[in-house]
Formats: sequence, C-alpha cells, structure tokens
Amino acid sequence: MLSQNLTGNLIPEAVAVSNEDISLINKLPNPPLVTMNTEDIYVRRCRLANDQIDSRFGRFHIDDIPRLIELVQGAPVLIGHDRQSLGVARFFGGEVEKRGDTTWAIPKFYFPRAYSQSEDLRIMLDSGIYNEASIAFLYQKPTCNICDEDLRQCPHWPGKTYEGKLCFYWYDGIERVTEGSLVYRGAVQGTGFELEYETEENSTGSHDDEKMNFSGESSGRIIHIKHKGRRYTALLNKAQVR
Ligand SMILES: [Zn+2]
Repeated sequence: MLSQNLTGNLIPEAVAVSNEDISLINKLPNPPLVTMNTEDIYVRRCRLANDQIDSRFGRFHIDDIPRLIELVQGAPVLIGHDRQSLGVARFFGGEVEKRGDTTWAIPKFYFPRAYSQSEDLRIMLDSGIYNEASIAFLYQKPTCNICDEDLRQCPHWPGKTYEGKLCFYWYDGIERVTEGSLVYRGAVQGTGFELEYETEENSTGSHDDEKMNFSGESSGRIIHIKHKGRRYTALLNKAQVR
C-alpha cells in the first residue's frame, strides 16, 4: 500500500469574495441552481468597454456606459468570441469608473473554483497572460459624428479627417450585450482584468470621490443614474494606485 503526505499552504485569495458579490450573483437571471458561497467562486473585474474611439472608429456615448453595465448582467465570458463554445465565467455587478479622461464599464465576473479548469483560468488571468477583453453587443444605428446621419448612408468615412475633424461613429441605440470575451487583441485600448476592488474594510489606501455629469444625484461613490426611465446605481471608483 502506498501512502503519501502532502504538505503546503494554499495561496490565499488577494481579495476575498464578498457577501455582496454572492447576493448579486444569486439575483442574476437564471441564477446558480445551487447557492454559491464566498469560498466557492473566484471573482475578477474586467475593463470591458469605455467612451473613447475604438480601433474600428466606433464610440459609445458616455451616458451609455452605465447602460452597458446593466446589459452585461448575467452575460457569459467567452474566449475569443467563440460562440460555438460555452462560457468560462459569467458577468455580474460592476462599476462605472473614471480614469483620467476615460470612463470605463468595469463589470465583475465569477467562475466556480470546483471546475476542473478554473485554476488554469485564474492563473492565466492573474499572471497577465490573458490581458485583453472585448465586448459583443447589438445596436441600432452607427451615427456619423460629422453630419449626424446614419454612417451607412452618409458620404463620410470613419478614420478619415474632414476639415481637421476625425470621422468616427456613435453606437446609437444599444440594445443588448451578448457576451464579453478574453481576446488576444481587443478593439478598445486599455481593456483588461483586475482583482476585485478592495472594500473599505480591507483597503490600505484612500479612494477619493469623483463626480460625473450623469443626470441624477451624486452621493459619495455611489451614483444614481436615470436612463430611459429606469433608475439604477453605479459605484464610482478612482483608479487604484498599484
Ligand atoms: Zn457623415
């Protein structure tokens, strides 16, 4: 008979999963069949989309950034937009965050520790091998910034300059976020992954408040947003200094 003793310490999570995360996950559409506990999952954050011009010369309105957080709830995290495969994780919660001149949609995502490939995924994310993300979404109209017409009918070309003004198009009428993917090179500068935001209890630094011009009242880091008649809240964090 063979006998073997294993000794060693598990590497603790840098930032623990919070009960609030669990609560948000259990409120998703099609929630987990079995209630997840804080020790059952890993949580990471994803800089998924922002309000700058992307490499296709498309651009989200700043007012739609909170809307993206709303629409991504429960959407799958895929690898390389491969819709023939199933997701490796799922989006929930998240925040709108202003970093410099850029406003980001930063949803969280979770994946179960018990899954046979979850350690591989966590290690590839945490080591920076997987380091860019890309959003897939449906919208109604690409609106030209030069003439305000539908880009498919107007004479302007995105990426060209007209009288010193770069032509791009607005993603107007965002209807759905179908998924977010780990990709080898995203269309948006600065996408990527982060550890869960530190809560005040375990934070060592201070996070100054930033205010934004969303319609709605601002109180501390929580901003209340009204968009198309619906109200929701977003947490506004300043970038963490590492
Ligand atoms: Zn035009």
